[in-house]
Amino acid sequence: MTDTPTQLFIGGAWLDAADGATMPVDDPATGEIICHIADAGPKDARLAEDAAVQAQEEWARTAPRARSEILRRAYEIILERSDGLAHLMTAEMGKPLAEARGEVAYAAEFFRWFSEEAVRIDGGAGILPDGRNRMLLSRRPVGPCLLITPWNFPLAMGTRKIGPAIAAGCTMVLKPAPQTPLSSLALAAILKEAGLPDGVLNVVTTSRAGEVCEPLLRGGRIRKLSFTGSTAVGRLLLAQSAEAVVRTSMELGGNAPFVVFEDADLGKAVDGAMLAKMRNMGEACTAANRFFVHHSVAEEFGRRLAERMGALVVGPGTRDGVDVGPLIDRTGRGKVEALVADAVERGARVLVGGRTPEGPGCFYPPTVLTDVSPESRLMDTEIFGPVAAILTFGDEDEVIPRANDTPWGLVGYVFTEGLERALRVSERLEVGMVGLNTGLVSNPAAPFGGVKQSGLGREGGRVGIDEFLEYQYLAVPVR
Ligand code: NAP
Repeated sequence: MTDTPTQLFIGGAWLDAADGATMPVDDPATGEIICHIADAGPKDARLAEDAAVQAQEEWARTAPRARSEILRRAYEIILERSDGLAHLMTAEMGKPLAEARGEVAYAAEFFRWFSEEAVRIDGGAGILPDGRNRMLLSRRPVGPCLLITPWNFPLAMGTRKIGPAIAAGCTMVLKPAPQTPLSSLALAAILKEAGLPDGVLNVVTTSRAGEVCEPLLRGGRIRKLSFTGSTAVGRLLLAQSAEAVVRTSMELGGNAPFVVFEDADLGKAVDGAMLAKMRNMGEACTAANRFFVHHSVAEEFGRRLAERMGALVVGPGTRDGVDVGPLIDRTGRGKVEALVADAVERGARVLVGGRTPEGPGCFYPPTVLTDVSPESRLMDTEIFGPVAAILTFGDEDEVIPRANDTPWGLVGYVFTEGLERALRVSERLEVGMVGLNTGLVSNPAAPFGGVKQSGLGREGGRVGIDEFLEYQYLAVPVR
């Protein structure tokens, strides 16, 4: 970790904050400070924006093949350094090393995917309906972007935005979450090594997100905001973006239903539940938040899930054999504790877990609650922790409105062995993604994103690059 950068990355140089401010980065497994990093203020943000604006024109003219090869090289370097990056991520975020290694591979894959997309940006030509005029369509980078990322996937949430921005020919200012800035700084160093020109990517780490980002959004030079985080912050940033009519992509919160029908293969459903609930200790926007299980199989499902959850080993992510690391911080854990206490007060039974352990670190045990009241607060709050809340239902027409009864619509999970039911239910769910007999939907080759208050736009897949491109139409009369 000694060679991990701790300064701001602006115009290709590593700089201290203009006022010399620094902030600590903590290890959530111990509560101890790992290191101090530069804490940017508005002056630094302005400098980063200047660098991105200055680099934009030349970067847009850079050959797509050259942009593609930088991404490809960065992909290879990430894989070569996988172990070091995984340790860094576990130190700042807490996830077990095996999961951190998985995220490194997932993050790298966005660079490989978009290195392939960079050289496939299409255009078009056509004869207009009057038969005289022609149109030529070309696609151009939208311009300098502001990218804001959360702490839960410190590397992948960055590469999912940086990859398509580089491929499209956009320059950027990246503001990572203050809990997990080190992965983003390491990524900036890798991109520099891979040949990314100075100023194309600038990284400002800060504890003053509002002061740093708002002037950029209102200033008129940033042309695109790509944000991943909570719906509440997304809403605020949308309002700020309105003033200078900044184009936005929003990957926001979720409240995923996980529906198990009476004809489901319960083995598959429990495997799916473990993935959909426990990936990233439940700290994922895709985490199953509400388990609706047909009353005829609910007891068996709950028993088998509790057995699997109870067998997981909780501890520091660096220790061998650990399945579940600490939550991100005490605030995050306090929220989980309060949601469980509320559910229990309203009649939920605890099948396993539910008790905060003594000692340092932000640990919380895998927990299964059954007989959960629909009035419980966790029904309309992202739990963001290792807690599975089970409710029962009677039939399809009853469960679908209940699953859709939320302002969010990111992902839903459906378990049934009936093909027609699988398709019918998936089509009726108000979500951007469905896991059909699987608890994992994320894949760089697929369009990731939600409907309703879960967001605007898609990341990844063939369409991921579209978020960073504009059409230009040329009218050509032919006489
Ligand atoms: P958050 O509190 O909304 O923060 C996300 C990012 O926004 C952080 O970098 C944060 O920095 C920054 N931010 C907060 N206020 C800001 C402001 N006024 N101006 C500019 N930036 C601001 O979310 P989080 O707790 O980090 O992440 C968890 C949330 O992200 C969950 O709701 C989860 O569902 C969602 N998420 C969604 C996806 C998806 O793809 N849909 C993926 C992952 C996570 P500060 O912390 O310094 O405020």
